[in-house]
Amino acid sequence: MKESIAAFFKGEIRDDAASIAKYSRDASLFEVKPSLVLSPRDADDLKALVKFVSKEKAAHPELSITGRAAGTDMGGGPLTTSLVLDFISHFNQASVDEASMTAVVQPGVYYRDFDKLTAPKHIEYPSYPASKDLAAFGGIIMNNAGGEKALFYGQTRDFVLELKMILSDGNEYSFRKLSRPELDAKMSQQDFEGELYRKMWKLVSENHEEIERNRPQTSKNSAGYALWRIWDPKADTFDLTQLFVGSQGTLGLFHEAKIRLVKDIPYRKLVALFLGKWDDLPHIVNAVLPLKPESMESFDDNTLKLGIRFMPEIAKKAHEGLLRFALRFLPEAWIGVEMLGLPKLIVLVEFAEDSQEALNAKCAAAAEILKPFPAHVRVLEDGPESEKYWIMRRESFNLLRSHVAGKQTAPFIDDFAVLPEKMPEFLPKLLKILSDAGIAANIAGHAGDGNYHIIPLMDLTKESERAKIVPVAEKVYSLIGEYGGTITAEHNDGIIRTPYLAKMFSPKMLGLFQEAKNILDPQNIFNPGKKVGGSIPYLESHIKAK
Ligand SMILES: Cc1cc2nc3c(=O)[nH]c(=O)nc-3n(C[C@H](O)[C@H](O)[C@H](O)COP(=O)(O)OP(=O)(O)OC[C@H]3O[C@@H](n4cnc5c(N)ncnc54)[C@H](O)[C@@H]3O)c2cc1C
Repeated sequence: MKESIAAFFKGEIRDDAASIAKYSRDASLFEVKPSLVLSPRDADDLKALVKFVSKEKAAHPELSITGRAAGTDMGGGPLTTSLVLDFISHFNQASVDEASMTAVVQPGVYYRDFDKLTAPKHIEYPSYPASKDLAAFGGIIMNNAGGEKALFYGQTRDFVLELKMILSDGNEYSFRKLSRPELDAKMSQQDFEGELYRKMWKLVSENHEEIERNRPQTSKNSAGYALWRIWDPKADTFDLTQLFVGSQGTLGLFHEAKIRLVKDIPYRKLVALFLGKWDDLPHIVNAVLPLKPESMESFDDNTLKLGIRFMPEIAKKAHEGLLRFALRFLPEAWIGVEMLGLPKLIVLVEFAEDSQEALNAKCAAAAEILKPFPAHVRVLEDGPESEKYWIMRRESFNLLRSHVAGKQTAPFIDDFAVLPEKMPEFLPKLLKILSDAGIAANIAGHAGDGNYHIIPLMDLTKESERAKIVPVAEKVYSLIGEYGGTITAEHNDGIIRTPYLAKMFSPKMLGLFQEAKNILDPQNIFNPGKKVGGSIPYLESHIKAK
């Protein structure tokens, strides 16, 4: 196979042990070894490869193509036993157009590099994940990533204007939102693209009611194919970018995207709340949301302890000396004394406004609203005082990954969301499932969206610990289904959640996902087993042992 690909492929082809080991892991609990690692040079390499795989598929049914950007996926999305395509090496161009507040990015562009292009212009792409120093646009777009600012601005799918995709016929197509006359023109084409539009229009228009019944009720969602976002009957627009964003490369490969940017809001302050128990959180969320904070995040006492334990690293991330950094926590230490111990929960509410007066008014209104709640409140100026909390919130998973001796982070219930008002009833039930199974976990998340990241710490070298994963996932995802939530708000389905999509979508809706996959990828050559066709035996057999 390697020789046959080398005959037409201009990029690098690797199958040495180090490369195979590197690409067999992401940030999930899985290990899957690819057969070859390919670094395509340009769109022609992608087209030739898709045509080759499509031609060889009948003779080699195991052959498939899985895209990979930075490989920070938490669910096994970029893992495969077949060909993995590294987009980081050669697809790393970005350009920013300040006048139209848009940018064109390739999948291998790291967010941290892109940020350096936009920050001096006081504009930004706001739907970045907490992994913003690690992730690239390939996964940001294909996972429909979100983060601390999604509450105010929306998720990645709200920012993608155009996509250039290589589809299963090995040709490149551009997608953007179409008006009715534009859709009619596309559907009248007698070619692959015309057929694609005809079939997708039929699918979404004939099943409109079923699709609407299955539309997730949470403010964020990355589970399934977003069929409910394609056709807007009121505006009569049809937008297939919405199908591709969040599709984990299961419908085609993307090699360029046009995205929308926003202006930095110049004045901001952080209101930090320290709570003795979780019970008040949903009421606080619902009371504060009408003030339209830019972010509303939270983390638990375990995460706080982690931050204290690894303060030197957090200080380094904040570009400060340890002593100076530690002194910044004196006011919080005093709050700890008053609360007779560490707070159970810290909630971060950030307001951003165009003027200092408007900002002060918002913070005063928040302080007033928060008065009846048993919470210690600190209002922090933008800068190092507030940054220490943001670093702790963003870095919690990374600290856990690298530091807890004898245990590994086991992200398998890492990204659910339920409506904030249901949280008081839902959360104790969820925590009971974990404690009954003897699983200790850290909890941090996007409180405003009801989206929480639960990261259990487990010794996965032990068979008895690995054996807990499927039964606990089964119970937790059933509970999320009962409460009308989503099994993944932003991390996406991957290997870990595809088998549980039935917990939130009807059998008919799952059938429509499969139909969409068949329309776009009839031979199943793109990232098989993700979004459709996943299984629990496959999941279990690829959990890494260390
Ligand atoms: C510490 C930490 C914190 C995190 N916090 C968040 C968070 O707050 N919010 C969030 O959303 N996620 C979070 N994540 C998960 C992850 O970082 C994000 O989803 C990120 O967007 C993935 O980007 P990536 O470039 O690493 O993608 P990858 O892992 O490389 O790929 C992700 C998916 O996209 C597909 N893909 C990539 N490029 C292409 C392409 N060109 N064509 C077709 N398919 C492609 C892959 O096949 C895979 O299915 C976190 C992860 C870590 C490790």
